Amino acid sequence: MMWDSCVQGSCLSAPSGTQAETLSACRVVHALISRLDYCNALYVELPLKICGGSDGKLQTAACLGTAGRELNSGAGYQTVSVSCCFFLPSGQEKRSWDHVLCVGLVLVYIYPTTMKVLLVFDFDHTVVDENSDTWIVKCAPASKLPDEIKNSYRKGYWTEYMGRVFRYLGDIGIREDEMKRTMTAIPFTTGMKELIDFIGKHKDFFDCIIISDSNAIFIDWILKAADVSQVFDEVFTNPASFNDCGSLTVQNCHAHDCAKCPINLCKRKVLEEFLEHLKPKVKYSQIIYIGDGGNDLCPVMCLKKSDVVMPRQGYMLESLISQLSQNLVPVEASVVVWSSGFEILAYLEVLTKG
Ligand SMILES: [Mg+2]
Ligand SMILES: [Zn+2]
Repeated sequence: MMWDSCVQGSCLSAPSGTQAETLSACRVVHALISRLDYCNALYVELPLKICGGSDGKLQTAACLGTAGRELNSGAGYQTVSVSCCFFLPSGQEKRSWDHVLCVGLVLVYIYPTTMKVLLVFDFDHTVVDENSDTWIVKCAPASKLPDEIKNSYRKGYWTEYMGRVFRYLGDIGIREDEMKRTMTAIPFTTGMKELIDFIGKHKDFFDCIIISDSNAIFIDWILKAADVSQVFDEVFTNPASFNDCGSLTVQNCHAHDCAKCPINLCKRKVLEEFLEHLKPKVKYSQIIYIGDGGNDLCPVMCLKKSDVVMPRQGYMLESLISQLSQNLVPVEASVVVWSSGFEILAYLEVLTKG
């Protein structure tokens, strides 16, 4: 392909009303860096097409590549689209980095978009309509655990309990492929696949994470089987792996000192650290927390007035939130109850149009 036709294509596809600047190749890195200084957050699409000849041009291209990767790691207020194309002398085609000589021309388009909304999903009984940890028991003979394992659970130590379940399944010869078959048959909550597809189509508007007390292997299997894993920017959960004996082992998500949460996971700490880590590049206009369980209350307590908590109707989180308001200590965030993913979808649809 002739590179000059690429450049023309990129010029023609610039969105109307954008501020276009034509900069020389050596100035563009400085321009990008200075924009980083005053933009609080950037989301960058960087369709870089670079070829070079002299050392200077290679260096510039390398800088651009680095700047691009750094910018791409953030997400937030603005979309900056950097189209970087180099003209070849007419009649020449791109061959290799070493011998192509070209004149640099860089087009930088900057166009503000609305601030993003962060969607935080619980997984069990929210994305899927079951508890993934108890669903795995379907692999056991007659879908039942021996009493000594079933009765060994101590409150607050769920991960240790599941460790015993997985060891038992490993000991009776249940292997990875059988577990995967069982787990990927878990039903999604009504309307959730449609909701996730909708979010996937509006990733310029939403960032989306999961915070779950399940484990990394189950969630990965289930999301990939449903072809929706790419919609989620991060999954925070208990790490898991298969040991040499073929048993699944699960570790605590992290250590924390929250007295309200189980020992392996405080979802509030996860959420706060996630937001802190993105600072100062990203600040969300709103957080929407979607969950069902008792362990979703702790993160909900750190939400602000402008945020929204969406508890599943008839589940523990909904009753804990209504108890708080009866005790005259309501959560700060707005409360929107849901019973299917379609209702959440309708709510988000209004946001994207607003
Ligand atoms: Mg749940
Ligand atoms: Zn907590």
